[in-house]
Amino acid sequence: MIENSSSLILIQVICILCLAGTIAWTVMVVPMRVAPSASWRFALANFCVLLGMLLYTQRTQEPSYLHWLVADNIILVGFCFLRWGAQRLYHLKSSHRFDIAVISISISLMLLAKPHTANAAYLMIILSLAAAVCFFMLAKDHYIAFKANFTAYATYWLVIPIVLIGMMFLVRAFILLLFPEKVATYAAFHTEESLPILWVYIVLILLVNILIIGNTINRLVVKIMTLANKDSLTGLWNRNALQSKLALEHARWLRDKVSYSVILIDLDHFKQINDSYGHTAGDEVLKVAAKQLNSVTRKIDYLCRYGGEEFVLILPLTTEKKVLCVAEKLQQILSEVSFEWQGNPIAIEASIGCATIKEGLPVEALLHLADKAMYEAKASGRNCIKIAKTAQPE
Ligand code: GH3
Ligand code: MG
Ligand code: MG
Repeated sequence: MIENSSSLILIQVICILCLAGTIAWTVMVVPMRVAPSASWRFALANFCVLLGMLLYTQRTQEPSYLHWLVADNIILVGFCFLRWGAQRLYHLKSSHRFDIAVISISISLMLLAKPHTANAAYLMIILSLAAAVCFFMLAKDHYIAFKANFTAYATYWLVIPIVLIGMMFLVRAFILLLFPEKVATYAAFHTEESLPILWVYIVLILLVNILIIGNTINRLVVKIMTLANKDSLTGLWNRNALQSKLALEHARWLRDKVSYSVILIDLDHFKQINDSYGHTAGDEVLKVAAKQLNSVTRKIDYLCRYGGEEFVLILPLTTEKKVLCVAEKLQQILSEVSFEWQGNPIAIEASIGCATIKEGLPVEALLHLADKAMYEAKASGRNCIKIAKTAQPE
């Protein structure tokens, strides 16, 4: 039991923080629906630490599996929930098997010693090592997730706090291994000497919760930004995104002279489809066409819905020699669509204009050239491909 009144207050603060964390993340899940599958894992992470701390406070001189083994490993499960929440948040592969193995090893090693104050150092070494593994793996998960969204510099700064938490547990394990008599300072809760470590716990709980709140907000921002750049009907990039992707490609061209091309695809007689079968049928044709076009593009290409029944494909690293091949592939894939609406087969055809960047050509002019080429294709009877004049080999 806790004899020192300052320790008692700090433990109460820790419990209140964990309780607040549990409630806050549950509120995120239930009424707010903010990243629910991740948020409820974060709520459970806080709850497990709360439960573990409450069990810690009940320790007496009597041996007790509940107050030692269960308490320690519930906290460890809490750390694992933190990791599983982060994996949900970033759509990473789940590490349930690995984490359960870590907890099982921790339980097995703890079972080798009597759950009693006399073995506090040994038990705390096991817990600290397992916690260090959890935090290092958590740092690895965040590194993988952040690397995809942030610069290397930002990634390191965001991952370092998690690595430091892991290091803290590791250092504690080594100190207890070398100086088991320091157990009152590094592992106990009820003594005057344990006050600094209790403060460390408070900072740790705050830091971890701030970190995961930051991560969740970041995911929401990324999601909102993605939605703002996507066309809701087809799921392709929208016109807004097209402008920024084109600007990016053009900047690369200006800097490294890496050639790129654009293809403008306009579905033929689309109005007739709407007029004959209705707007819903037209929408379905747009979705099918988008899916088909998307199926033949590379990962580095950007397929955008430019307007009504017009699509633009930006092709990085593509010279004018290759662009015709790509356009033919697009035309071919559209002609292969076998779409039926209420038993009526609807063929999808398109007029396609292509243009490749040239020295001195501004980015707006490139799109204009592709548009002109597409209108030439319309004038030549539709369902054909035209290459912009200035883009043809001299
Ligand atoms: P052309 O062969 O000359 O390109 O003829 P078109 O009928 O394809 O082109 P036009 O510009 O005359 O008509 C385009 C039609 O596309 C008119 C518009 O109502 C329709 N449209 C635009 N956006 C949507 C949409 O989101 N859904 C549906 N169903 N129709 C749309
Ligand atoms: Mg059109
Ligand atoms: Mg059209």
